[in-house]
Amino acid sequence: MGKVTIFPETSVRPITLIGARAGCCWGADVSDDAKNYKRGLDCIESNHGRTLEYVNVEMMLDGYSARVIREWYTHIGGAPTRLQASTRYINYSDFEYVTPPKIEADPKAKEIYDRVMREISAAGKELEELGIPREDSAMILPLGMTTKIVDRRNLRNLIDMSRQRMCTRAYHEYRELFSDICAALSDYSEEWKYIIDTQMKPKCEVLGYCTEKYSCGRRPKAEK
Ligand SMILES: Cc1cc2nc3c(=O)[nH]c(=O)nc-3n(C[C@H](O)[C@H](O)[C@H](O)COP(=O)(O)OP(=O)(O)OC[C@H]3O[C@@H](n4cnc5c(N)ncnc54)[C@H](O)[C@@H]3O)c2cc1C
Repeated sequence: MGKVTIFPETSVRPITLIGARAGCCWGADVSDDAKNYKRGLDCIESNHGRTLEYVNVEMMLDGYSARVIREWYTHIGGAPTRLQASTRYINYSDFEYVTPPKIEADPKAKEIYDRVMREISAAGKELEELGIPREDSAMILPLGMTTKIVDRRNLRNLIDMSRQRMCTRAYHEYRELFSDICAALSDYSEEWKYIIDTQMKPKCEVLGYCTEKYSCGRRPKAEK
């Protein structure tokens, strides 16, 4: 079970911030936060995407698999930044790992899965005893092991991510991770709750049809 921690550098009032920055360019009175909030809402509802880029989210994602973080790294719009736990300095001889639900539910599959993880862990220790440096023995670590990243990206990127990753076709751990992020931001402030409730949705909900080759059927396919 992963954990999302929202850092205090994340604006508690993202809508007000959007309105304040947009107001600078409209000759508006940006000292009035009620007006900033209203202007921010207008920007969001009018889909003025560039204004969303003034809201940064700084967070730590901890306990998700290295595999899902590999997919996380494909969302590069707006040049996000991140740091990931080192495989060189951290001792992974007893690494933790994510067990997918279908494996968890099948005792035989779980026995195989856990055995492979134990064998990798034991092999790592043997290589270390032979004097192989950790940066080399780390090559055998599995994608299922958990990792930790600190990440900063803007609101526009996160909304765009929801289009892909709230899709039923997205990898299930990513969908869970994205849902954890939405829950953490919703708890962070009322303005965030509004943004999550109104803006985070899969692409089919925005387009009114599905663009995926293999559709879940929630919306009709594009050609229909
Ligand atoms: C069901 C599913 C299966 C997938 N399978 C795979 C897979 O097998 N392998 C894989 O690698 N990925 C896979 N992905 C990930 C997917 O291909 C994208 O890499 C991911 O969604 C991030 O890219 P993005 O364009 O959505 O987001 P971002 O990179 O964050 O881009 C956001 C938006 O910014 C703009 N933008 C970004 N970069 C540029 C640019 N250079 N030039 C102009 N405009 C830009 C575009 O408008 C873009 O839509 C899969 C995703 C899904 C949902």
